[in-house]
Amino acid sequence: MTEAYKIIDHVYDTVVVGAGGSGLRATMGSAEAGLKTACITKVFPTRSHTVAAQGGIAASLGNNSPDHWSWHMYDTVKGSDWLGDQDAIEYMVREAPAAVYELEHAGVPFSRNDNGTIYQRPFGGHMQNMGEGPPVQRTCAAADRTGHAMLHALYQQSLKYDSDFFIEYFAIDLIMEDGVCRGVIALCMEDGSIHRFRSHAVVLATGGSGRCYFSATSAHTCTGDGGAMVLRAGLPLQDMEFVQFHPTGIYGAGVLITEGARGEGGYLTNSEGERFMERYAPSAKDLASRDVVSRSMAAEIREGRGVGKEGDHIYLHLDHIDEKVLAERLPGITETGKIFAGVDLTRQPLPVVPTVHYNMGGIPCNYHGQVVTIKDGNPDTVVPGLYAVGEAACVSVHGANRLGSNSLIDLVVFGRATGHHLRDTIKPGSAHKALPKDSADLALSRLDHFRNAKGGSPTAQIRMEMQKTMQKHAAVFRDTQLLSEGTALMQTVNKRMEDVHVTDRSLIWNTDLIETLELDNLLSQAVCTIESAHARKESRGAHMHEDYPERDDANFMKHTVSWFEGWGGKGGKVTLDYRPVHEYTLSDEVEYIKPKKRVY
Ligand SMILES: Cc1cc2nc3c(=O)[nH]c(=O)nc-3n(C[C@H](O)[C@H](O)[C@H](O)COP(=O)(O)OP(=O)(O)OC[C@H]3O[C@@H](n4cnc5c(N)ncnc54)[C@H](O)[C@@H]3O)c2cc1C
Repeated sequence: MTEAYKIIDHVYDTVVVGAGGSGLRATMGSAEAGLKTACITKVFPTRSHTVAAQGGIAASLGNNSPDHWSWHMYDTVKGSDWLGDQDAIEYMVREAPAAVYELEHAGVPFSRNDNGTIYQRPFGGHMQNMGEGPPVQRTCAAADRTGHAMLHALYQQSLKYDSDFFIEYFAIDLIMEDGVCRGVIALCMEDGSIHRFRSHAVVLATGGSGRCYFSATSAHTCTGDGGAMVLRAGLPLQDMEFVQFHPTGIYGAGVLITEGARGEGGYLTNSEGERFMERYAPSAKDLASRDVVSRSMAAEIREGRGVGKEGDHIYLHLDHIDEKVLAERLPGITETGKIFAGVDLTRQPLPVVPTVHYNMGGIPCNYHGQVVTIKDGNPDTVVPGLYAVGEAACVSVHGANRLGSNSLIDLVVFGRATGHHLRDTIKPGSAHKALPKDSADLALSRLDHFRNAKGGSPTAQIRMEMQKTMQKHAAVFRDTQLLSEGTALMQTVNKRMEDVHVTDRSLIWNTDLIETLELDNLLSQAVCTIESAHARKESRGAHMHEDYPERDDANFMKHTVSWFEGWGGKGGKVTLDYRPVHEYTLSDEVEYIKPKKRVY
């Protein structure tokens, strides 16, 4: 079978899979260190989901209000509901200001204050004085198109260095040998050729898996391909039950309205016209953290105070804000509101609903980007040759809930850290061992299997079933019954993959085949998500379990680690274990932040 496909071989020091903010930053760092670097991406770099980021990037510059990195650290730990690793969090917040200035020098056109400094806006959960308040202005923004500006600047910069881009190449599977990552196999989508990349390190920067759900703000390309490759390599994912619902996706369309809208003074109302967030979060109100706002909205809807004909959404008001401010600070969402909700937001409220937005969980790694697993009782065993960055990774800085604008900073800080680690550990041009004979077998057997799949279920049908099941059974509110039904249903949906039908048998721009490979990737992660959720009998951050409404630090202050067996509908068994949370800081300049009740 393997012989039937002609393989083109490549040899690199480093291969980065993904060209979003994190992948581009890692590519730059690797190339800058003189390492021969390839970046493989299934979409053109500037079409990666990072381009859609609106609100901004967090760093304690203190331009618009007093700030300090230790305050940013406190907020991130509290936001994570104490599931974040405090060593990694300290690393991120301390490096954040330098990372933002680096972006500024790379050409990101940040919005400005009158005195020329970078403009910073308030964002949910970001406060002054170690959480005491008032809200801090910490989120640096290029109007409401921050990700767009960042991605273009990073792509232009990375072209300056000598790295090779393989654009519209779909990475299928990792090459693993004796627990070491040796490279990756990819399909060139344009001509169907197969490419084998041999490298000292593979960096997975493949983004999140939001498309496990029916309604998501993430792009249709956010199918968690890297996470699924890791599962198929026999390695685990971490904290998959923590899926962030953004409070303000446009009702029906799922398109995001940035939290920056509330940062600039927007507020939510129910069918009685009440600003209900005052009841749930008396001090932070509409700027409480995302899990809290989403939960409050869902509760209002459930208790019959939703708006619209079916009472199933909430209003976001921006109509009281000066039109000049809207035009200057939120031009993108003014346009989005018109196109996707038919609303002139200078006069009318926007219909919004909590929508899947971000995966806190992902590929477990340390703050150097090195992938880790549990082996022989050591929960921090490094997987040689394998790195993960960005939304695909779980460092874990976001724990059970990510604060707005903390992802963009995560991308550049850890993309850069990974570059440094590659620089310090790989000698440019050093010799490679021969690859094992079966190096392409897993990738090609999957490719060939799906390409010739003649079952009775179209890919789109199975995908819809998965997305509806996840949307119903693993959403904002969860309980034992929903989750146990959901885990059984997801096993059935996963099994249906054995019966998948692919119509197009060619290898030239076969979107049918690519979508099927992506669905296979989504399924393993959907199953891990719901099973991890079922096993977590407490409520923490984005995981709200109604039968266990309190956080249970004694039993559950630990990271869920999940292994998945099989692919293509075969297997489906999930094995769970737990890693301890890092309850220590990186330096002694800040103290470990002890758990307490999370109130906003
Ligand atoms: C609408 C929206 C708005 C957001 N706004 C903000 C914000 O204001 N502030 C903030 O901090 N965060 C925000 N976020 C979150 C943040 O933007 C994302 O978490 C982040 O951009 C993810 O970046 P990434 O580099 O991990 O991956 P992505 O940008 O998702 O890129 C993934 C890359 O991997 C490649 N890839 C994937 N699979 C394969 C494969 N099999 N083969 C080859 N290549 C592959 C893709 O081609 C792509 O280049 C927002 C998210 C969304 C969805």
